[in-house]
Amino acid sequence: MALEDIARRINAATENAGRAAGSVHLIAVSKVQPDERVRSVLEKGHRSFGENRVQEAAGKWPGFREDFTDIDLHLIGPLQTNKARQAFELFQSIHSVDRPKLAKTCARLAQETGACPELFVQVNTGEEPQKAGVLPGDADAFVKDCLGMDLPVRGLMCIPPADEEPSLHFALLAKIAARNGLTGLSMGMSGDFESAIALGATHVRVGSAIFGERTPA
Ligand SMILES: *Cc1c(COP(=O)(O)O)cnc(C)c1O
Repeated sequence: MALEDIARRINAATENAGRAAGSVHLIAVSKVQPDERVRSVLEKGHRSFGENRVQEAAGKWPGFREDFTDIDLHLIGPLQTNKARQAFELFQSIHSVDRPKLAKTCARLAQETGACPELFVQVNTGEEPQKAGVLPGDADAFVKDCLGMDLPVRGLMCIPPADEEPSLHFALLAKIAARNGLTGLSMGMSGDFESAIALGATHVRVGSAIFGERTPA
């Protein structure tokens, strides 16, 4: 089964990199997947999932949570500030903190609710105009601002450009994280999670290799 196969490959890549067993967290990216496929992965005992849209997650996860406990949900897509409150209620982690306005909104919600999901700052390592994320040159200052607001920044996240060697981007993200004292690295997808693990990924986001190709609803 695909889930077990991916878990095996993650363990092998972790060991090959000389890293501690269990130091890489698998987020099964369930966006746009039919409920039966998601349910079968839940029935195997897996509990960490990624969604890229708040609305879609709000439609499907409260139902799964009635049937399965301890679900750990990660928002891996862009977050509009007007959806932040809903995201705080649904998600245990947000991987797309990418601008001051959103950071301020998170800080305010954290104050108000007394809790905050674990946060990752998204870095646009390829400096692509159409992609979210702070530019590499702005990352240090932005991370410092977030920490100054007492936000629980776990680490950094990136989505490398589709047509470039991803390992260069993984290495850059790792370097920015290290110089900011951050240990979390959300990087690596179906096609490249092994090289991400070799470069220090702590959270890999794997969708199609677990669930099969996404057929748009
Ligand atoms: C869809 C998505 C993934 C998973 O992609 P696959 O290639 O299906 O593994 C990972 N990260 C982000 C941010 C995504 O939007």
